[in-house]
Amino acid sequence: MPDEILLERLTWPEIQEALKEGYDTVVLFAGSIEQHGPHLPLCTDTVLGYELAERVARKMGKALVAPVIRPGLSEHHMAFKGTITLSRETFQSTVRDYVKSLARHGFKRLAITFSHGGNAGALNEILPQLANEFPEVEILAVTDIEAHAPFLRRQASMKARQAFTQENSRPQPCWLMTRTWCAGISWPRDLPETSAKTAKP
Ligand SMILES: [Zn+2]
Repeated sequence: MPDEILLERLTWPEIQEALKEGYDTVVLFAGSIEQHGPHLPLCTDTVLGYELAERVARKMGKALVAPVIRPGLSEHHMAFKGTITLSRETFQSTVRDYVKSLARHGFKRLAITFSHGGNAGALNEILPQLANEFPEVEILAVTDIEAHAPFLRRQASMKARQAFTQENSRPQPCWLMTRTWCAGISWPRDLPETSAKTAKP
C-alpha cells in the first residue's frame, strides 16, 4: 500500500496508477467547521474525519481518502462565533458532486460516513437519489447513529471512551462508531446488519 492515500495530496498520474492497481474504493467523511467548546479549534471534526478516514481506508485496503467535506450542517452551533454552516441543499449537492466526480474517474465503491453527527440526516436522505443516479458505484454508508448506539457503546474500547470524553461532555455515537472501526472491527461485515447500508434500491 502506498504511503500516501489522501486523494488531494496525490498527483493525477499517481491516482491513475492507483486505479490501475485496483484502488477503486474511496472513503469519504463529512465533517464540520464549528465550535467544539472553549478549548478546541473549529476544525476538530474535520481533523478527526481525516484521521479516521485514513485508518478506515487502510483497513479496507486498496482505498483512497477523499477530501473531508467541511463545513457541514452546523446551524445548531451558530450562536458560537466562527461556526460556518451549509444549507441542507448545498451539503447534499456537494455529496452528490463528489460521487459524480469520483464515478467519472472510474472509482467503483464509495464508503461514506461523517465525523460530525449533524450531517447524518441529510446524508441519509440523499442515499436513494445517489443509488438511482450512479448505479455503477457501490455506495456503502453508515448514517444511522441512534440505532447503533448501544452496539457501539458496548464495542467501544475504554481508551476510545476516554478519548471521546476528553473531546466532549456527552457520548457521541458517531465518534464511538469511528473509533470502533479503528479498534479493528472490519467494516461493514462486523457491524449490525442495518448499520452498513448499501444504497442500492
Ligand atoms: Zn460536530
